[in-house]
Amino acid sequence: MAQYDLNSLHLDKSNNLKTSVQASFDKTIPIVDLSKMDHLEWKKVLSAAFKDPVKLLEYLELDKEEYLNKVQVDSQFKMLVPLSYAAKMRKGDWYDPLLRQVLPVQDEVIESSGFVSDPVGDLQSEISPGVLHKYQGRILLITTGSCPVHCRYCFRREFPYIDSIPDKKHWQQTLNKIQEDKSIKEVILSGGDPLMLSDQRLEKMCTDIALISHVKTIRFHTRVPIFLPERITSEFLSWFGNLNINKVMVIHSNHANELDESVGETLIAIKNNGVTLLNQAVLLKGVNDSVETLELLLQRLFSFQVLPYYLHQLDRVKGSAHFEVDKKKALDLIESLRNRLPGYLIPRLVEEVSGKRSKQTIVKIEK
Ligand code: SF4
Repeated sequence: MAQYDLNSLHLDKSNNLKTSVQASFDKTIPIVDLSKMDHLEWKKVLSAAFKDPVKLLEYLELDKEEYLNKVQVDSQFKMLVPLSYAAKMRKGDWYDPLLRQVLPVQDEVIESSGFVSDPVGDLQSEISPGVLHKYQGRILLITTGSCPVHCRYCFRREFPYIDSIPDKKHWQQTLNKIQEDKSIKEVILSGGDPLMLSDQRLEKMCTDIALISHVKTIRFHTRVPIFLPERITSEFLSWFGNLNINKVMVIHSNHANELDESVGETLIAIKNNGVTLLNQAVLLKGVNDSVETLELLLQRLFSFQVLPYYLHQLDRVKGSAHFEVDKKKALDLIESLRNRLPGYLIPRLVEEVSGKRSKQTIVKIEK
């Protein structure tokens, strides 16, 4: 078992955090054969996910007593980690960058100035339950509160899903809104994670949207291909690929170790069904805040035909301050990436500012 200082898990010792720069796939799970995947298999996989941190730590051969005595936190935002994701973590390593994204720790209860429950102003832009109209030409639908994983830094970790998810009977009202506003060219399905819905529900939504002539693009924001590749069945790919509309999937991967061959096969299958694949990552202290780690992530994504979209500065949601990387360092990282990679592999460094009508690109101010 690795030696570690548990205190550093809930103190700001980022300089000591070991960020993996070597994607290791010795625990690669078998490649998913999509044609053989039962369309409900993913629900069984999800129901077997780790929900108890102690069980996850036992699996990772980490000292649960140390966790219980020094690090654990009782959070309303419960842990959720699929087994296939846990299988990519290094055993015996408290500083594993995948574990850090999902393990509830005491840092989450430290009050930090400027960290709030709705950092991006979702609720200000909600025009009806679950319908957010923030940016010109695009509308975003909160389709579900469910996710394949609970990311500790999630900007919607305090989102009031219970009040905001329209039920089926409100679907026609949502469609009417989109139909009436001819400026809407793109509908973004978000959540939670839209791919947590059943095919039946999703197909109905997507088909209805695709029939609105001024809407040209459907976009999914999802972590499912990374965390629950079993969900991307041949059945899903068949109906989704056949939709007569532009299809974009923005996945969210933060570290190359998340992208094993199974995930890669899934991504390529999505791409081969006529879907534009992009990645947004969040810059996270102790997870991916080194140039080597980001370079590996971007190269690995490209090997699976995914292009970079955004590198997000952390949204300052309550309980996430320990993940924040300062802007100067973020800019230096982008600059270093430019010296190592071609331009098409450099993501845009952005932040979302509540009330602004677009994402804000972070740029260096020359003195
Ligand atoms: S999958 Fe997305 S919405 Fe769900 S917890 Fe993670 S970041 Fe938040």
